[in-house]
Amino acid sequence: MGVKYSNKINKIRTFALLLIFAGIIIMYLGLFFQTSPFFMTLFMILGFFSIIASVIIYFWIGMLSSKAVLVQCPGCEKETKMLGRVDACMYCSEPLTLDKSLEGKEFDESYNSKKK
Ligand SMILES: [Zn+2]
Repeated sequence: MGVKYSNKINKIRTFALLLIFAGIIIMYLGLFFQTSPFFMTLFMILGFFSIIASVIIYFWIGMLSSKAVLVQCPGCEKETKMLGRVDACMYCSEPLTLDKSLEGKEFDESYNSKKK
């Protein structure tokens, strides 16, 4: 298959973590503009917003994980949470599906998007 798929919950978590770091870095950059109150405020607000956004994302993951389906991975036999029709194992990235008709087919993220 070549491409490694990662679990959606893990992916969102990584994104939220990056957002926190980005927010801190942006706020830190604002300190270089101490002579200009406008830019300093701008950086502070941007940094503040990315931290707020990541808090919201963390909250959202919490809601998602409570709705996620708990399945036992056939690859590593650990309990993993999956979102949508297809997802990957949190531990070994084994492709998983809830839909019998997709079993054995090539893993494709597009199975998750609803067709109009
Ligand atoms: Zn696994």
